[in-house]
Amino acid sequence: MSPSLTDTFPTDWSYISEGGANIVFVYQGPPNPFFDGTALRLRKRKRAAIDEEKEGREILSIEYQKQCLQRLIPLEHLPRLELVVVGPDHDAEAWLRALAAECEPHRALERKETDCIDVVQPRALLATNLVGGGGIAVEIKPKWGFLPCPTYLSDATRPIKTQTCRFCMHSHLKAQQGQMVCAAYCPLDLFSGDESRIKTALNGLWDAWIESDGIINNFKVFVRGRKIVPEQRSSIVGVVNDIADAKEALTSALLPVLLSTPVLRTLARLQRTLDALDIEGLASLCDLSAIGADAEPTVADALPPPRPPTQRTCGTTSSHTPLSATFKDCSVIVRVPDGTATLIDLDPKSIERLRKWERLDREIVAAYAAVPVRKRKACVHTGAE
Ligand SMILES: [Zn+2]
Repeated sequence: MSPSLTDTFPTDWSYISEGGANIVFVYQGPPNPFFDGTALRLRKRKRAAIDEEKEGREILSIEYQKQCLQRLIPLEHLPRLELVVVGPDHDAEAWLRALAAECEPHRALERKETDCIDVVQPRALLATNLVGGGGIAVEIKPKWGFLPCPTYLSDATRPIKTQTCRFCMHSHLKAQQGQMVCAAYCPLDLFSGDESRIKTALNGLWDAWIESDGIINNFKVFVRGRKIVPEQRSSIVGVVNDIADAKEALTSALLPVLLSTPVLRTLARLQRTLDALDIEGLASLCDLSAIGADAEPTVADALPPPRPPTQRTCGTTSSHTPLSATFKDCSVIVRVPDGTATLIDLDPKSIERLRKWERLDREIVAAYAAVPVRKRKACVHTGAE
């Protein structure tokens, strides 16, 4: 029988990071063949939550990885995922409450205000701890690495969307709203396969990390298993090379891995081929809006049917969880000196999420349409596979 989490102490798990839906811990307890080298991913719940659908999300993630992702991405670039039982009913909640209390001081204030660990979940996801060990691990959320295919775009948005990538337009909107952005980072640089452009992308991510004091969510740095904040950046020096400048030490270590790994290429190809339509084209074809109250006329009749290889290759799961959305929202963990790159957070996305993206997409493009043409950013897609 597999061990459960209650066989360990909550204090054996140390908080490492969190995203919108999940919070991650790594095992640092006494030697344990089952938990050594693992990371634990737990679901969070909104403080003001009305009961949302959540049962079985972990099972779905595992099935999704097995049935879909492993056919598209070589296993060596995916983390090992396993379901783990929290514990017997009466102990599980107490265990999770203790863990929640333990990690609270390490969490960012904005996070603490919006959500907390869901203490009634029966199971959690156990994954390979990719940020541990003696070297450096960097987590990059690359976002959308392509410009949409012009065919399905409207006349109004085509000139905008085929020149400036979604990420750069979104950065513009966020900056207007007073948010911290990665202004100098363009995903198309990271995905270009070109050394100097990848370097530009890494410099952009690093600079935004420093300027935002580590707040931006596209770039996280772990040194010898611990997440560092920008003021601790000197701890990078000497770990993987003799370069005295932290930025230079890190970027020059990451660069050869990003140049040689097939992961970015694969990711860009999957994003592009699974969603050549762009969300706008997808909405017009699949009538996303008809699912909700904000219905709009669609032009589905005038267009050929979408050719989602997603639904054919992956069975029922993907009809509710467009694969392209998964690949646009995942992260890659690059480890040096190991030289590995692994994709994480490849979760199925709900149709509700897709509809939210569609609304956001309209807002992003509308805001960018107001930028004078000569001031619009030209994001370069090299066509490198
Ligand atoms: Zn761009």
